[in-house]
Amino acid sequence: MESTTPTTDVDEATSDPTLMGAVEAAVDAAVRARARSYSPYSSFKMGAGLIGFDGEQVLGTLIENVSLGLAMCSERVALFSAITQQIRPRVLALCSPRTEADFTFPCGACLQVALELAGPDLVVVAVDTDGQRAQTRLIDLLPRAPRRFSPHDSQD
Ligand SMILES: [Zn+2]
Repeated sequence: MESTTPTTDVDEATSDPTLMGAVEAAVDAAVRARARSYSPYSSFKMGAGLIGFDGEQVLGTLIENVSLGLAMCSERVALFSAITQQIRPRVLALCSPRTEADFTFPCGACLQVALELAGPDLVVVAVDTDGQRAQTRLIDLLPRAPRRFSPHDSQD
């Protein structure tokens, strides 16, 4: 799981049929999760589909709240649910509208949580509302994030 070298997954994705299947399943789950989005304040519907290493499928949807800071991103809903069910995440897809014409990838908070719970090799797929997608690895989206906190590292 530990990798410090950014990877491009295009070759792997086309040569590993199990990964290709997992990506397709994650995209399908993200589209279905988006339809469940609870986003009455922003109307920006988002859904996440997570596929585990044994093919398990977990859905997460955006959940907003009248107290705006209490909203929870769909990706973290899916990640927390996966960990609760002892599912090791392999692929995380996010389905949402594009933002400023570009694919919408998970926010920084979700990336940091994903790094902790899934590791740098997690495959991350952004899917727009037309079904077009962009795919990368978590390490490419968050290359220099802190990995672990250890009190023994402190010199104080
Ligand atoms: Zn987020």
